Amino acid sequence: MKNKQVSDKEIIMQGIAASPGIALGNVFVFRPYPLNLSELELGIEDVEKEFLMFENAIARVIEQLEFAQNESELRYGNQFSEIFESQKAFLRDMDLVNEIKREIKDSSSSAAHGVSKILSEKSDYFINMENTYFRERAYDIIDLKQKLIRALLGIDYDYQLNSPSIVVAEMLSPSDTIQFNRNFILGFLTDQGGKTSHAAILARGLRIPSVVNGYNLSHVLHDGDSIILDGFKGTIIINPTEETKKRYHELKKEYDRFEKGLDRYIKQPSETADGEKITLLANIEFAHEVSIVQKNKAAGVGLFRTESIFIREQEEPTEETQFQIYKQAAAKIAPLPLVIRTIDLGGDKFLDSYNPENEPNPFLGWRAIRFCLDQPDVFKSQLRAILRAGVSGNVKILIPMISAVEEIIHTKAIIKEAENELTQKHIAFKKDIPLGIMIETPAAAISASMLADYVDFFSIGTNDLTQYVLAIDRTNEKVSQSYNTFNPAVLELIFRTIEAGRERNMEVALCGEFAAAPSAIPLLIGMGLRSLSMSPVYLVEAKKIIRALDIKACEQLFEEVRVLHQAQEIEQRCQKFLKANIPDLKFLI
Ligand code: PEP
Ligand code: MG
Repeated sequence: MKNKQVSDKEIIMQGIAASPGIALGNVFVFRPYPLNLSELELGIEDVEKEFLMFENAIARVIEQLEFAQNESELRYGNQFSEIFESQKAFLRDMDLVNEIKREIKDSSSSAAHGVSKILSEKSDYFINMENTYFRERAYDIIDLKQKLIRALLGIDYDYQLNSPSIVVAEMLSPSDTIQFNRNFILGFLTDQGGKTSHAAILARGLRIPSVVNGYNLSHVLHDGDSIILDGFKGTIIINPTEETKKRYHELKKEYDRFEKGLDRYIKQPSETADGEKITLLANIEFAHEVSIVQKNKAAGVGLFRTESIFIREQEEPTEETQFQIYKQAAAKIAPLPLVIRTIDLGGDKFLDSYNPENEPNPFLGWRAIRFCLDQPDVFKSQLRAILRAGVSGNVKILIPMISAVEEIIHTKAIIKEAENELTQKHIAFKKDIPLGIMIETPAAAISASMLADYVDFFSIGTNDLTQYVLAIDRTNEKVSQSYNTFNPAVLELIFRTIEAGRERNMEVALCGEFAAAPSAIPLLIGMGLRSLSMSPVYLVEAKKIIRALDIKACEQLFEEVRVLHQAQEIEQRCQKFLKANIPDLKFLI
């Protein structure tokens, strides 16, 4: 696309919505990185001098990160501190420092070249992963690489924005995001990244609308170009007409009004207009996120994904490391529940040391509970850590990807062994921790009423359930058009699972992305679901929706959509229902 040639025409493009909100304004292109890394010098004589420069550059970048972290803590408390801490820890890793020094020495290259080579290899490793979470960790490494090279080459960057602008960049790092003057940032548009990149997490925390374009727009747009970002739908409009601007101004006003009014919902109870209690829980990946959960007054953590603890280090963390992490989270959120999901490795989340040689169908392969049951030592070490953390709070265990009763029986036997080992060593632990399973395979959903006899609670994982029921790889963009949880087959299985729980008065939560989809909430409540777990940023919005609903009307909505055959018509019917019941949510739909 050549923006210059079509500069007077309105162009509408579809990107990925990374942070909600609407931004209208002029572009500021942010391009702080040295462009041609391939020209970095080889053939250096004085290796010691390069080592020294490299060490100074590390110190300088750590200083920059500390500055950004201080700014962030002054302005927003400690909610983003972990992001900066992990970047600093990466730079302090002596194995990495030595690897780069070896490269400088062996190839007699400049420090900048050594940094570029080694960190590019590392970011390439992550960027080739299917899993978006880990793919996006690559951007943290690329950011550190660029920062080190900038420090080595003496290139400084001025983050001064002089007027309100939409910042357009190839990518944004957490520290870039924080260093702009918040008063002048209208929105972010990046070429790379995604919903779970750290920059996106920060943007959501700061309530800055943000879209990822995937078209290299940072090389197409120019300072001063007029654009609109729709952070709900991921739409990008270049050179909007006056009419479009007017429409989006209206939507923005509506959203701003809605957002201002949201805070008052934080303290209000999560119940429908006719008084039915709906439990709102949070999904987290890191223990430090518990403070965001508390800020949003969730009823607890419904899903603590633990694989990131393993993948971040690319090796199995010790039982002690895990225990400290789980204990910290459990104690902080207590007496509210902390549902710890045992590792869901495999599929698209691999660990170097266990990566089986290219499984033909990794999502149907050595994943989650299957991996754990084959690696009882790894599994048991995690279970012991969880049982020990149970002493400090209200901990529950959740097992992913169950498809047969045998897996539950086997898991219980391993939990028993873990308990016996702890008893023998006189280590304190919590007995009879509630055990739940993810309902995310068709087999589990179909046999939910049988599985209910074996466990204490269910958590429906619609992200995987949709993928497995429809046979659509959740990471494959080619087929993503048909990946829709509103598909009647998926809805039927969700309903069966809710019913199976209800028959036994057993707790059933739903923790996939569907729980936070505004138009899905009335439908799920109409099906009888009373517990939703979602990313903390969506909690208040969900509560607002819940408080406007009436159970009878939700049940009627479910009856109505049950006779519809197509995912799209079901989704549209649910959207219409939401619009009619909560008119000020129009911008979300
Ligand atoms: C799910 O599958 O819906 C789920 C919550 O688990 P994950 O996204 O971690 O697979
Ligand atoms: Mg899952």
